[in-house]
Amino acid sequence: MKIKILYTEQQIAEQVDELAERVVDRLGHSFHVLCVLQGAYMFTADLMRALDRRVAKPTLGFIQVQSYQGTESRELKLVQDCGDLQGKSVVVVEDILDTGQTLRWLNDHLRKKGAREVLNCVLLDKFKAERCDRLYGFQCPDEFVVGYGLDHNGRYRGLPHIGVLES
Ligand code: IMP
Ligand code: MG
Repeated sequence: MKIKILYTEQQIAEQVDELAERVVDRLGHSFHVLCVLQGAYMFTADLMRALDRRVAKPTLGFIQVQSYQGTESRELKLVQDCGDLQGKSVVVVEDILDTGQTLRWLNDHLRKKGAREVLNCVLLDKFKAERCDRLYGFQCPDEFVVGYGLDHNGRYRGLPHIGVLES
């Protein structure tokens, strides 16, 4: 399958760097980065390096949720929970905001776990979700995108750029 490139490696690197600056503006230098598996793994790795260049020294954790199509609506399942967040400032790092269901569920979950402050940081936003407080890298067209961690049936996660699949 061919891929129409939307965002190049260079454009992504610039946005990630900019996002790191905005995270530090909001939270200072001490906070917890929570990577939402699996799609956000590459974004998180680059964001951690960009944060380090800004002298932030965050701790890092992972959480995995899976959404699957039920009969009536999509349902979310917690595949792997994160560690203790009591009293912490948490940056949720997510690859893409589509309907916003995943992020809403996560914010609720993290507050129940006692997080003091939750900041959402998404690389791509399709601007379809109900507006929530978040930092975003790109306003993405409402198409299915792959690369830079995002997959289609488990593939294309390793692409250094982000694009739309064209069959
Ligand atoms: P939401 O809950 O509808 O906001 O969807 C969020 C999740 O769906 C993301 O974390 C992605 O894993 C997945 N997703 C949504 N849109 C795309 C896409 O265009 N490409 C790949 N994965 C997507
Ligand atoms: Mg995801």
